[in-house]
Amino acid sequence: MRRAVVVTVDGLRSDMISSEVTPNLCALAREAERFDNYRTVFPSCTRVVSASLATGCFPARHGLQGNSVALLEDRGLVLHDAGHPDFLQYKRRLTGRSLAVPTLAERLRDHGGAITLSNVSPGAAYAHDPDGHGYVYHRAGSFGPGRVRLRAEEHLDVTLDVAGDRRMTERFVGEVLEQRRPALAVLWLGETDHIQHEVALGSPEHRVVLGAADAHVGLVVDAVSRLRASGDDVILFVGSDHGHQTVEGVVDVEDELVSAGLKLGPASGDVVAASNGTAVLIYVHPDHAARLPDLRAFLEDRPWMGQIFGPDELAAVGQAGEACLAFAVSMRASDAANAFGVPGSSLAAKPALGKPDRLGCGQHGGLGKYEQSPFMMVSGPGFEAHSVRNEPAFVVDIAPTILAHLGLAWSNVDGRPLQAGLKRR
Ligand SMILES: [Zn+2]
Repeated sequence: MRRAVVVTVDGLRSDMISSEVTPNLCALAREAERFDNYRTVFPSCTRVVSASLATGCFPARHGLQGNSVALLEDRGLVLHDAGHPDFLQYKRRLTGRSLAVPTLAERLRDHGGAITLSNVSPGAAYAHDPDGHGYVYHRAGSFGPGRVRLRAEEHLDVTLDVAGDRRMTERFVGEVLEQRRPALAVLWLGETDHIQHEVALGSPEHRVVLGAADAHVGLVVDAVSRLRASGDDVILFVGSDHGHQTVEGVVDVEDELVSAGLKLGPASGDVVAASNGTAVLIYVHPDHAARLPDLRAFLEDRPWMGQIFGPDELAAVGQAGEACLAFAVSMRASDAANAFGVPGSSLAAKPALGKPDRLGCGQHGGLGKYEQSPFMMVSGPGFEAHSVRNEPAFVVDIAPTILAHLGLAWSNVDGRPLQAGLKRR
């Protein structure tokens, strides 16, 4: 039986893999093909990456533009946290679509099915299958086909910590990989990201969590070895969705726009700056499009601005000037190291909705070198053990690679299959 298994260690940047802290990942790197030029999306945020992995498309096509976004409603632009459990359901009611293109769960509905276990934000978990074609398990609610809520005894009732990731992994191995045997099984570990938002990168607290996640990866790798020994033809992906940079300052972008007269007031619906950690998405209501040149001039002049992409430049970073998105800004970043010698620092955009601002801890979202350095290792047919591929590979390549392995069409995606010898079509 052909099967695909995807493990994401959320937020693990590639330079944090070491024989001392993550021996299982190092062992896997020797048995798999390692992609040393693996790229994520922009903003480099979990919900956006989840949707991009699930659809094989960049945000320009799947339409989930950020971890936080603005939606055009009757009262103007309204800021939303895409991590909210009901966000994609709300977006479907408002716009007609949750995601604008099919997910792997939809494509595999009649071809062996998909089961996802995720311990990150609910919105990121449900981005794998917002319309209920397969199974998604998350602590905020677990759903089966038809988006029917699963009964309490079937629900994934875990905490967002190492113990929760452990219980989720054990259930993934025993119940999903060995008993239910779907065509696609996705495991998304959450504590590796959560801890980096709470402590300094490279601190002892961070390293302990990394070691635990490495053990969880080891459980899956061992299970996949057993599946292969019993005759299953498994393609295994182990990687991350983004890295982290250290937050060296926090900027209240919305407040600056109001002060500059470019936004009417703190809660106004004319212009909305949606913080995405070390990036910010600026939305402009169509009635106020005349403000675009002044907004651009203002943003380009800010000392906190790193890179800016306007309406005609968004395609270069996988975004589109649709749904009122006018500018995507990556906050200023540098190679400066933190107290533990971990390089990479960034300014962050102050989050709305009363969320903590993470000064001195890890954050991501922008185009900084280390937040844009996830890792990816693949083993199975079409991938060479003990080898490194240096050509660029993208998160949107995962879906077509899975579809090709399963013998299915991979049309209408932005990515391409990564198996050696397969041509783009
Ligand atoms: Zn993440």
